[in-house]
Amino acid sequence: MIRRAAVSTVPNARYGRFITRKYRFDKERVMKIVINDDLCIACGECVDLCPKKILYIDESADKCRCRDEKKCDGLRGCEKVCPVEAIKIYDS
Ligand code: SF4
Ligand code: SF4
Repeated sequence: MIRRAAVSTVPNARYGRFITRKYRFDKERVMKIVINDDLCIACGECVDLCPKKILYIDESADKCRCRDEKKCDGLRGCEKVCPVEAIKIYDS
């Protein structure tokens, strides 16, 4: 498996500016998205931010959920905008 370093610039909604970070590019990489239901207040900040549109609010549980971890870009924008640190992204 070949891994290449890449540089990406992603918008940071909370601070209204762009952040630049290095990340490892690997098409086969699948991220693990963990949402702490005890902390999530279903504010929708991460849902609005997610560029892959894989996060949503489950109305019945009133909590955030992910519909497809395979599409996650792993840039952790959702982690940064969550006001209560309820969502975490891990390299699986
Ligand atoms: S890290 Fe994944 S779930 Fe979070 S905003 Fe990016 S694509 Fe969406
Ligand atoms: S930003 Fe945090 S609190 Fe708000 S819906 Fe997403 S995980 Fe839940």
